Amino acid sequence: MVGILITHWHSDHIEGASALLKACHNAKLYCSIALLKKEAFQLTALYKKDIFADTDKEIREFREIIEFLRETGDRNRFAPVKSRHTFFDYRNTVSTRLVALSPSDVAVTQSIASLTQLAEKQGKRRARNIVPTSENLNAVALHFSFGNLSVLLGSDLEETGNPQTGWSAIFKDQIINELSLPVASLFKVSHHGSETGYHDKIWQELLIESPLSMTTPYTRSSLPTADNINKLQRLSSQFLITRDPQANKRIKRENMVERELRSIVKDRKTINDKMGHIQIRITIDGNLNISGNENAFKFTSTAL
Ligand SMILES: [Zn+2]
Repeated sequence: MVGILITHWHSDHIEGASALLKACHNAKLYCSIALLKKEAFQLTALYKKDIFADTDKEIREFREIIEFLRETGDRNRFAPVKSRHTFFDYRNTVSTRLVALSPSDVAVTQSIASLTQLAEKQGKRRARNIVPTSENLNAVALHFSFGNLSVLLGSDLEETGNPQTGWSAIFKDQIINELSLPVASLFKVSHHGSETGYHDKIWQELLIESPLSMTTPYTRSSLPTADNINKLQRLSSQFLITRDPQANKRIKRENMVERELRSIVKDRKTINDKMGHIQIRITIDGNLNISGNENAFKFTSTAL
């Protein structure tokens, strides 16, 4: 089975997906069932390509995908996902299974409803981000097992307090019992380690005590914060991050330059151009082999 999964429709998760799809001829494209409804297609049709507008790029990326699949006439490459979806379940030699824990039915319905509200308003300036942050409730979180090892991949699934969406829905809908999901020892922490990505029950019911945790930073929202990191470090045996989220401190300039900049710019952020990655390999007897490039970061220590 070869597949590409778009966990949800935000640029930090969808960018590059169309190029990937074009390059991987045999790969199926998996995404939330909400994105395969006519409301999502209509929205993409409303936004025209505009190479000068660095605004609605997540919509353009999705439009690129739809157009490509329409041109190739290969609609079967689209595969809709919602909670309980089984990507594969092999029981022969080493049992290997991948299932989706989200989005819940209610999250899908809400997402479709919100997409209809997003039509471009005549004469209005384009917003920087068209797809609403609530799309995170439509994110696909995953549970993967390989022999005795289980892994929880949290994507950007968040918690809002609504029992029918986000992490709450997974626990309310009894998905863990129903699918007999073993506790995971490896956790891709949801939503870049943010407080809204946290739920007590993730740590109580889905994970072993002190799992190995990791995440990626999200610079635009300064995630994870120092508090988030402290908490995750406390809960985990190790906490790994693809690059240090605090490394992009503002560059100190001469006073005169600094004053001038302050008078013309409301807010400034230094772009962190360091690309980090973490690679985890599992041996057939279940041992983990962790490595990363020079930008990956292990908390309590320095580079990996
Ligand atoms: Zn994200």
